[in-house]
Amino acid sequence: MSLNLYNTLARAKQEFTPLDDTAIGMYVCGPTVYDYAHIGNARPVIVFDVLFRLLKHVYGADHVTYVRNITDVDDKIITAHQESGEDIGSITSRTTDAFHADMAALGNLEPSIEPRATDHIPQMIEIIEKLIADGHAYEEQGHVCFNVPSMSEYGRLARLNRDELIAGARVDIAPYKKDAADFVLWKPSDEDQPGWDSPWGRGRPGWHIECSAMSSEYLGETFDIHGGGQDLIFPHHENEIAQSCCAHGEGTFAQTWMHNGYLMVEGEKMSKSLGNFITVHELIKDHHGEAVRLCMLMTHYRQPLNWTADGLAQAKSSLDSFYGALRMTAEIVPASVVPSDDFVAALSDDLNSPQAIAVLHELVGALNKAETDEAKAAAKDNLLAAGNLLGLLQLDPEDWFKWTPEGAAEGFSDAEIDDLIEQRKTARANKDFALSDKIRDDLAAQGIVLEDGAGDTSWKRG
Ligand SMILES: [Zn+2]
Repeated sequence: MSLNLYNTLARAKQEFTPLDDTAIGMYVCGPTVYDYAHIGNARPVIVFDVLFRLLKHVYGADHVTYVRNITDVDDKIITAHQESGEDIGSITSRTTDAFHADMAALGNLEPSIEPRATDHIPQMIEIIEKLIADGHAYEEQGHVCFNVPSMSEYGRLARLNRDELIAGARVDIAPYKKDAADFVLWKPSDEDQPGWDSPWGRGRPGWHIECSAMSSEYLGETFDIHGGGQDLIFPHHENEIAQSCCAHGEGTFAQTWMHNGYLMVEGEKMSKSLGNFITVHELIKDHHGEAVRLCMLMTHYRQPLNWTADGLAQAKSSLDSFYGALRMTAEIVPASVVPSDDFVAALSDDLNSPQAIAVLHELVGALNKAETDEAKAAAKDNLLAAGNLLGLLQLDPEDWFKWTPEGAAEGFSDAEIDDLIEQRKTARANKDFALSDKIRDDLAAQGIVLEDGAGDTSWKRG
């Protein structure tokens, strides 16, 4: 089965052919750590986590290296420090920890390598020196800039003409720039700003150079896939290409460029001023991470995603039905865990997650209909394996149904509920239906739903 991916560079879906099918490399731009991640930040993490899982499935778990960086030097971090007075090291370590916790709660695997920009300053300096030596960059007033007119191919990813490039870069014509389109590789730092010694004085790197340095450090000068949000195409990714290809040679760097679409909230642009800004940190207090993840994956990654409360409720309800089927077959032990061909085919078609989710619903239907233990085991195999490729169905069904939002009112504990169910069973055996109904009503009042099965009663938090 071939894997087809949309390559932004070609503006076309292409059959993915790794440079070396035992060493696939993928680089995805990671967070700038100065604040909690919002749901727009979570989208590329989830999308490329699914691709990471798929690549491991197709090529073998040991044959894929996924690098996602941490940008821990940036003017936004300096601004956050100036506004709050919190130490820069404290801001970056605290928000990195929060990012890790939030992304884990959304069911994302850790990348193979997570390099931090501040650990790679010498590598950045080395590339900048090479660019200067080859006439692609120059030093001016303590700044080092990439000279855009020195690269004839500049703009090929974004496909913008020169006027659009300059307008899109939204830069003031700084006195240290030879050309309006030039961008900064290195800039001077004041005493109170983070800085490193360099051939151009004490300073710090521009954002773009980080990714060129860290990708070549861990994946080599040429590698398979580079990903990120659509908003990074220009200028960030265009500039990464300029730096890397001018330093390492034409044809080097990422071969396939993948970008996820924008995210809106209830049809509007998400912004703090509109009051519709949703951080993952807050969202997962009220909603299980798997529901958030499924909701994201219900839209194809290249489409704009409209985040809605209805969509999230729909995702939760789908997961209830998936976990319900798994709970009904709790005693069935799956023999091997192999996803169905239909499911892998859907994901292999440029990560068609809506289609893959449709197959997931079919697999749940097949599990519900299966009559023999053998048929149940096979259907459960398919379902669990498919869920795993999407990073879903990772919980014990009992834990899914008993999960409680952080803000929920204090109610019955799991043990108290089990105890009440036992009391109700005894009442029913004694034909004390008034008591048995009262127990059911008391539980229902707290949103706990009882489901009487053949010999047993299961429950879930509504
Ligand atoms: Zn980057």
